[in-house]
Amino acid sequence: PAMTNSLVEETKRIVAQFEYTDDDVNKGVQEFLRQMNEGLRKDGTSLSQIPTYVTGVPNGTEKVIVTLLYTFYSTLTTLQGLYMAVDLGGTNFRVCSVHLNGDTTFDLTYSKVAIPRELMVAKTSKELFGFLAKQIELFLRTHHEEHFEAHVRRRKNSKVAEGFEEENIFQLGFTFSFPVQQFGINKGSLIRWTKGFDIPDAVGKDVCALLQEEIDLLHLPVKVAALVNDTVGTLMARSYTSPGKTGTLIGAIFGTGTNGAYVEKITNLQKSVDGDYDKSTGEMVINTEWGSFDNQLNVLPNTPYDAKLDRDSVNPGIQIFEKRVSGMFLGEIVRLVIVDLYENPKLSLFKDANTSTGDRNARIGDDSGLFKQWGLDSSLMSIAVADSTPNLSNLRKELDSQLQIRSASVEEAQAFKDVSYAVGRRAARLSAVVLAGIVIQSGKLNNSSDEPLDIGADGSLVEHYPKFRDMIQEAFRSIEGIGAEGAERIRIGIARDGSGVGAALIALVAANME
Ligand code: ADP
Repeated sequence: PAMTNSLVEETKRIVAQFEYTDDDVNKGVQEFLRQMNEGLRKDGTSLSQIPTYVTGVPNGTEKVIVTLLYTFYSTLTTLQGLYMAVDLGGTNFRVCSVHLNGDTTFDLTYSKVAIPRELMVAKTSKELFGFLAKQIELFLRTHHEEHFEAHVRRRKNSKVAEGFEEENIFQLGFTFSFPVQQFGINKGSLIRWTKGFDIPDAVGKDVCALLQEEIDLLHLPVKVAALVNDTVGTLMARSYTSPGKTGTLIGAIFGTGTNGAYVEKITNLQKSVDGDYDKSTGEMVINTEWGSFDNQLNVLPNTPYDAKLDRDSVNPGIQIFEKRVSGMFLGEIVRLVIVDLYENPKLSLFKDANTSTGDRNARIGDDSGLFKQWGLDSSLMSIAVADSTPNLSNLRKELDSQLQIRSASVEEAQAFKDVSYAVGRRAARLSAVVLAGIVIQSGKLNNSSDEPLDIGADGSLVEHYPKFRDMIQEAFRSIEGIGAEGAERIRIGIARDGSGVGAALIALVAANME
């Protein structure tokens, strides 16, 4: 029992380090507002605040629809057919085709494949982009074989190698969720990798061209028509489907990584923007790249576990906000805490009480993820927090099957659950900081209407971690400039696979702009 008590005490001590108070939240919001506006004034700041050239969002019902959507509506009535969207998210590569029925409805076909880890750190970008093109080919063969073969037949009979007829070429929206400097609707160069990717030769290159090259090598009838950040796709798709009269303000991702895009007033966008865009709407969608909020650690929390995770990552000092918030990193933070508890000589966590040596492997399997970097998936945190059975039987079963931790005691499982809860809760409250910063910047809570203020969110963390959105709302209530009344008006809706639909919409518009 003495041992057990000290486990409880030690867990409490560590969990306290993950507390992120109301006061911290408010300080965070002020700093986020400062960095947001700095990023709107000049380049090379901590928040990139990237202009996307998308100058309006769809608005479910009335007041049609600035530039982009105006085009969208007029094309919808004249165009029917297949569009494609692919999404390089972080963990998975998704391929989908969207059949436009010509009456604003769509039929979607999806496929999803895990990106092999070795390709994320491949020697050359060709390896990764070649893999992506191969997946597109596989998708076409599986779901559009007839269509695909028609193209092939035509090509074989043709004297010209790439003799596809224009109307038979799939227009593809490429959702590429890494920081990109965009130069046009389907051109943009990679600024830096995030989320564990590291392929140096791709940095500075046009990612659409890299994909198109590999597509052409496979002789596929596919044209990369639009480059889309997943947050912008989410914003577009959510705005189109959300029931409100005013469009959606923010598209936010809480998946492998985290990022958000929002609708900003052009007058606030003071840095120079290359190329032409329509100024008549007075607005432009800005991709914040908030994953790198406060890389200088002015206000973000920094426990020894955060610091170790960062030191051992492929990009130390970068994406500091993302490393405290998103799915790729939360499991690793929990793992580092659990390993710390495990290695504490005063505790017997996951060690065999019957061996005086506390034999390392007595209760943990040889290749348990507990002792490997990235070996603990964030989904296990959700299982832990969701387990409300009195003896945590579900979690104990999962500790066994996922981490080879044999016969965890209720106390040990409880320690794991407490750590998972603390790390997830801090992530939700940090998420509230960036969302609230944008809400306050927009000034949209200042009017007297009771119109809801809509946020579209996507990603496994916000979808599956228990009460993630509730914890964000709870933090909103404590924020100066929002408060209980403001929080009541903010609605966070899940925009499922928004990036696929949004990308297809933008591809459609892009194809029609030519
Ligand atoms: P992506 O961001 O790559 O498009 P997802 O939105 O599915 O894909 O996010 C995947 C990330 O979410 C991974 O880091 C994974 O560990 C984490 N994740 C998956 N399921 C859950 C869950 N149930 N609870 C918390 N995190 C999860």
